[in-house]
Amino acid sequence: MLSKVSEAVAVPKRHAVRYGLMVLVLAVTLPIALTLNSLHVPTAFATMLLAVMFSVWRFGIGPGLVASVFTIFSIRFFLLEPLYTIDPFALPDEELHVFLLFGEAILLLWLLGSAQRRAQEKLRASEAYLADAQALSQTGSVRLIVPDAEVFWSAQAYRVLGYSNDISPSVQRMIARVHPGDVALVHSRFFQLTEPAKRIDFEHRIVMPDGTLKQIAVLGKAELERGGKIRVSAAVMDMTEAKRISASLRKSQAELAHVTRLTAMGELVASISHEINQPLAAIKLNAETGVRWLDREPPQLDDVRLSLSRIIDNAARAGALISNLRNMSKKAEAQTRPLDLNHVVTDVVQILQREAQDKNIRCMIDLDSNLKLVEADEVQLQQILVNFLMNGFDAMATTPESERQISIRSRNCEDSVAVEVRDAGLGIPEGVAGRLFDAFFTTKLHGMGIGLSICRTIAEAHGGKVEAFNNEDRGATFRIVLPQASALVA
Ligand code: ADP
Repeated sequence: MLSKVSEAVAVPKRHAVRYGLMVLVLAVTLPIALTLNSLHVPTAFATMLLAVMFSVWRFGIGPGLVASVFTIFSIRFFLLEPLYTIDPFALPDEELHVFLLFGEAILLLWLLGSAQRRAQEKLRASEAYLADAQALSQTGSVRLIVPDAEVFWSAQAYRVLGYSNDISPSVQRMIARVHPGDVALVHSRFFQLTEPAKRIDFEHRIVMPDGTLKQIAVLGKAELERGGKIRVSAAVMDMTEAKRISASLRKSQAELAHVTRLTAMGELVASISHEINQPLAAIKLNAETGVRWLDREPPQLDDVRLSLSRIIDNAARAGALISNLRNMSKKAEAQTRPLDLNHVVTDVVQILQREAQDKNIRCMIDLDSNLKLVEADEVQLQQILVNFLMNGFDAMATTPESERQISIRSRNCEDSVAVEVRDAGLGIPEGVAGRLFDAFFTTKLHGMGIGLSICRTIAEAHGGKVEAFNNEDRGATFRIVLPQASALVA
């Protein structure tokens, strides 16, 4: 086992105990010294010196100093003639020299003892840090001299190998733990090295007495010693827990990937129903209107034709939405082409005209006649604007009818094009601005919270962005910004 300074010189922790024991040692030593002195034994002073040495070594620097000072005074007071005075100058010259010599010797002993004690304490502290670090990292250290098979284990190495600290380390004991399938490997890489190696790095299994397996990583080096021997120093790390965690991480990742796929499917289903709802509602509305025109006497065939053509438009739009969503789910490329966003705006406003009329909402359009083209998929951009407008309609449900107005504006920006939809509704509720575009975020009773997240996905797929903010007076503005087609080419 690695030698342990701390164990050899452990000093009692409590001050009172250390000082108390020091007093006890002096109380025993002084009568012995007095007796020896009265018998004219010349080692009487030396007995006192031993007491000082013992005090510094066993009780530390403070008690050692007290013992030194006390001893100097005792020698003067009890052992040197004239007795019972502490005046050193009452001593004859020769005795004074002896006394000074002993005084110096005692102080020197104390100084040396203190220096040694400090060194021991530093060593003990660094030993403790090392032991802590080894315990925390589950890493022990092992040293081996080949071919003598002399082995040293650190305290943590004992723990890794599952041996109690009181047994002596040996190669046999190490091999006894190695998994039978790995014995040959451990021999060749560790116990039977024949030449120095800059890096030893391998893993093997060990079997504990209760049959559990541990995965051990060995990292070290082998150096040439005097006499042609080889000294192997290595860190042995218990990787069992780390391996278990990484296996469970891999399992969680696989589960996460599965859940993500399911979520994506769920989102797809949710977005299909969300997007298809609006054209289906329009088809139903137009069909009912058509029936009413047919029931008239005489039937109003022109109006019936208009209703039917609206039904055809909405059915085509529903079909386009479905194929678009299918493309998105297949990660197919969007059908992009240079597009005038003004046309997209007018188309969408037309699609939603009936809806707006039913809800008594005025739609104001303010289009930039020099609007630059964008490179985009038309149906996807319609989707964004339909979402913005439908949300605006919802937000104005409680706005007085005379104030229900939605404005759609297109503008060129530096190298992008922006379309904004501004409503006069409730505005974005406080504290939720950062989450509006997250999937499944909704503040509506029957909302799905999917529309704006689709808008963001589409905008970002086009190299653009969507933004939302509250207006100064009332309501909110939602904006899509896309790069100009010319900027993309450049
Ligand atoms: P849904 O409409 O199903 O709630 P969206 O993703 O379209 O899902 O919208 C998410 C949330 O964003 C809405 O629930 C609402 O809180 C907020 N929001 C969207 N548009 C507006 C708007 N014009 N004014 C105020 N809040 C809005």
